[in-house]
Amino acid sequence: MKNTRCGYIAIVGRPNVGKSTLLNTIMDQKLSITSKKPQTTRHQLLGIKTFNQAQFLYVDTPGIHSNEKKAINRYMNRNARSVIRDVDAVIFVVDRGSWNKEDDLVAEALAGQAGQLIIAVNKFDLITPRNRLLPVLEKLQARFPEAEVVPVSALKGENIEQLETLIEKRIPYSEFYFPDDQVTDRTERFMVAEIIREKLMRQLGDEVPYAASIQIDRFERTENIVHIVATIFVERAGQKAILIGAGGKKLKRIGIDARVDIEKLLASKVMLTNWVKVKSGWSDSERALKSLGYDPV
Ligand code: GDP
Ligand code: MG
Repeated sequence: MKNTRCGYIAIVGRPNVGKSTLLNTIMDQKLSITSKKPQTTRHQLLGIKTFNQAQFLYVDTPGIHSNEKKAINRYMNRNARSVIRDVDAVIFVVDRGSWNKEDDLVAEALAGQAGQLIIAVNKFDLITPRNRLLPVLEKLQARFPEAEVVPVSALKGENIEQLETLIEKRIPYSEFYFPDDQVTDRTERFMVAEIIREKLMRQLGDEVPYAASIQIDRFERTENIVHIVATIFVERAGQKAILIGAGGKKLKRIGIDARVDIEKLLASKVMLTNWVKVKSGWSDSERALKSLGYDPV
């Protein structure tokens, strides 16, 4: 029998409960973009963590949610559901305070997975006094008797080791699937596009970010600097105007914030140029989604 372990762990839950924050905390670095807005995560991303004798392959999924009208939402739901079927363990992230219909949807998708289920009750830093947490945990345990229930704070990094211990027990003995220094399966280009999207989500109001998609047109590493040219696609001319902002200020801010993070990611100076183009209806067309890199599942 092998003495190393290796396996896949899905991080699932309704939008905005803190799945991506949890992944970043577990990974000790920013892999997955986060914001206060729901549906920040659109693509599936693997976080690879190797320590001691175990390799953990974390899959951050776009949240499962109830609005299936748009193609992009259907894509995200399909994606999350298909991931759940193929993993060794599932972390079901819920918010400490509220349980709603969308949590029910996730719970339904998880039926049959009871034995490998770990419920992470997130944001418990927001509960005071802490003994208010007990009834929440008991209720969840009663509803999911076979699951492990553990309170965590993804943001403050509390109880994360305990969570990882629970996960480790559930992943099988196996050789490592990836080199032990690799941290993700995604390319640098992909990570760069995601960072730009995060800054859009954080800088703009509600409508525009969901209508935006990023394409990297140039990515060229020279000895001292990485040259990057990106195009941000939006659906309407009005959105383009909002994104650029008066005197180009908004786009400039987004570009500066993105460059700081990209320089960290690539450990290099970066020259970033952003263009904005209108491509109407991209988020509601399966074909346009494919052309922007959303693989059908
Ligand atoms: P996702 O949609 O499930 O991936 O959620 P995100 O990771 O993008 O997080 C959504 C929001 O919740 C962000 O504003 C996070 O900063 C916040 N958040 C995540 N985890 C915690 C936590 O443990 N405590 C608190 N107070 N906020 C959190
Ligand atoms: Mg997310």
